[in-house]
Amino acid sequence: MEKLSNAFMEEVVKACRPYTAQGEVIDHIPGLDQSHATDLGVTIITQKGEVYSAGEDDCSFSLQSISKVIILLMALEDFGKEVVFQKVGMEPTDDFFNSISNLEDYEGHRPFNPLINSGAIATASLVNGASVDERFDRIISFLQTITSDERVKFNEEVYQSEIKNGARNRSLAYFMESTGVLSNQEAEEALDLYYRVNSIDITSLALAKLGCFLTNHGRNIETGDQLIQARHVRTVKAIMLTSGMYNESGTYAVEVGFPLKSGVSGSIVGAVPGRMGIGIIGPSINKKGNSVAGGQVLRMLSDKLKLNIFHD
Ligand code: GLN
Repeated sequence: MEKLSNAFMEEVVKACRPYTAQGEVIDHIPGLDQSHATDLGVTIITQKGEVYSAGEDDCSFSLQSISKVIILLMALEDFGKEVVFQKVGMEPTDDFFNSISNLEDYEGHRPFNPLINSGAIATASLVNGASVDERFDRIISFLQTITSDERVKFNEEVYQSEIKNGARNRSLAYFMESTGVLSNQEAEEALDLYYRVNSIDITSLALAKLGCFLTNHGRNIETGDQLIQARHVRTVKAIMLTSGMYNESGTYAVEVGFPLKSGVSGSIVGAVPGRMGIGIIGPSINKKGNSVAGGQVLRMLSDKLKLNIFHD
C-alpha cells in the first residue's frame, strides 16, 4: 500500500489533471470561469491530524451543493431523524440533481433524499432560528468552527447570482408548496437559506476538515467538542454514500467506496471512516455535476491507499 506524503499527492494531481479536459466549468458562478478549467487541488487530513496537500489548494470557491450536507446535519440535530425523514425520503434517485418531475410521483410528493435540490430546500425548512438571518448565522458559525479557516465566508456576489439563476430552485420550492410539503412562508425562507449556504466560500483544506469532522463522529477535530450527535452523523454519511454524487452515486460507491458529496463548483468532500477527510477542488464538471478530475483523484486515492470501506 502506498504511503501518504506530499510527493504522493503531487503524483496523484499530476496523473489526474489531464481529466480536467473532459469537463466544463459552470459559467454563471462569480469567481469561476474558464481560467480555472485546469485547476485541481487536493487536501487530506488524517485522523491523527497530519495534513497533506497538492495542486491548486489555495483556491476558494463557493460551497454549492456541499451545503446540503451542512443543512442536513443541522436539521437532524434540531428536529431529529423522524421529523426530517417525514419531509424528505432517504432513497437514491437516478434523476438529475435539480429534477422536478420526480416530485410528482414519489410518496406524498416528498423529495427522494436530502442531497438533491428539492430535498435540501425541504430540509432547510427544518433549521431552527427566529429568522433566516439567525439560521444562517448558526450554519456559518458552525462551519467556521469546524474548519477554523478564515477563508470560509459568505460571498454576497455568489448569493446574488444564486437568486438571479434560481428559477429552477424556486420552481421546486413552489411545487412543494403546492403539494403541502412546505407552507408558503417555509418555501420562501428555505429558499433564501439554501441560496445563502450555497454561497459560502470554501477551500480544499476546509473541505478536508469537514470530512474529518464526519469521520470523527461529529466531534470538532481540534477541541474534541461533540457538536452534532454521532447517530446523526452516521445517518448523513450513509446518505452521502448512496446519494452524495447525485445520479452517479452508485458508480462512486462501487469505484471509490466511502461517503462523498460534490458541488457544481467542482468541489468534493470525502469522509473515510477511521482514516481521513478529503477535500478536492476541480471546477471542470461533467453533465451530472461532478468534478471529472476530482472523481479520478478519488479513484486513485481509494485504490492506492486502500480506502474502500468494503475492501477485503
Ligand atoms: N447552486 C446550485 C443549485 O442550487 C447548486 C447545485 C449543485 O451544486 N449541484 O442548483
